[in-house]
Amino acid sequence: MAKVGFVGLGNMGFPMAKNLKNAGHDVLGFDVSDAARSAAQSEDMKVSDQLGAIAADADIVITMLPNGEISKSVASELLSQMPNGSLLIDCSTIDVASAKTVHQMAADAGKLCLDAPVSGGVGGASAGTLTFMVGGSDDAFAKGSDVLDIMGQKAVHCGDGGAGQSAKICNNMLLAISMIGTCEAFAMAEKLGLDQDKLFDVVSTSSGSCWSVNTYCPVPDVGPKSPSDNNYQPGFAASLMNKDLNLAMEAAKDADAQTPLGAHAAALYKAMVDQGHGDLDFSAMINLLGDLK
Ligand code: NAD
Repeated sequence: MAKVGFVGLGNMGFPMAKNLKNAGHDVLGFDVSDAARSAAQSEDMKVSDQLGAIAADADIVITMLPNGEISKSVASELLSQMPNGSLLIDCSTIDVASAKTVHQMAADAGKLCLDAPVSGGVGGASAGTLTFMVGGSDDAFAKGSDVLDIMGQKAVHCGDGGAGQSAKICNNMLLAISMIGTCEAFAMAEKLGLDQDKLFDVVSTSSGSCWSVNTYCPVPDVGPKSPSDNNYQPGFAASLMNKDLNLAMEAAKDADAQTPLGAHAAALYKAMVDQGHGDLDFSAMINLLGDLK
């Protein structure tokens, strides 16, 4: 079993670290927040109040942090102290440019590195059913596969450093666009006097079918259970979709990619958050369409 350091014991990180511990790995956690460390300790997680202690003799260090600036500064401190040949896995959702910088820092320090953002949310983190989108070398992926397989149900090796973050923002940009399209279609159906169950019946088995319709329909009591059936409690909060769309727009600009619908989706989710609805599930867009510009 590996010695695993885990940095960032928040909503996602703590349940991920717990699954590694429950699988028998020797896990040592760290978080800047006293409250997060105490909460982890109260559930029998070993924690340290020194970031350096996490790095010292770890085989693998996993980070689950809020943004690229924090990932870079934590990586810089960790990498200078991790043993040679050990592996840093950053599971945070961060910008592609920062992810590539962390890979370069790891290469310069003689350490292996993966960017491995996740899909699946807090429920997937607790259940160990996350999907990892992974960037890095074959050697790094081989070394990280065991722990990724414990924390998730699938890990796709998408390519070199940064490829995991690229896959994540492409997926989430498409999801935002398809959700807004779904909301528009169901909202229009209502105005046309069309029964929404009938529309679901048609679309879910026709060419308009997609995950936003078939699995996560934004209309209450239509389709399988989803956050719309629970007053739009997340699920996947609009504020997190807003974050991911900002990352997508940054990457599109850097890569000179044309994303007119992505830009429009980003503007609509920004308006949703600016109007105070960031804590609602992103499918609550259906109730706000008329108010957002
Ligand atoms: P969170 O705010 O609950 O947890 C982040 C943790 O990092 C906090 O406990 C914070 O104290 C800690 N932290 C901040 N700076 C630190 C530092 N310098 N050193 C050590 N710890 C530090 O956030 P979360 O919901 O767990 O999300 C973590 C990442 O996962 C984010 O990048 C987010 O975009 C991504 N993500 C979240 C979800 C979700 O549903 N919550 C889904 C997919 C991806």
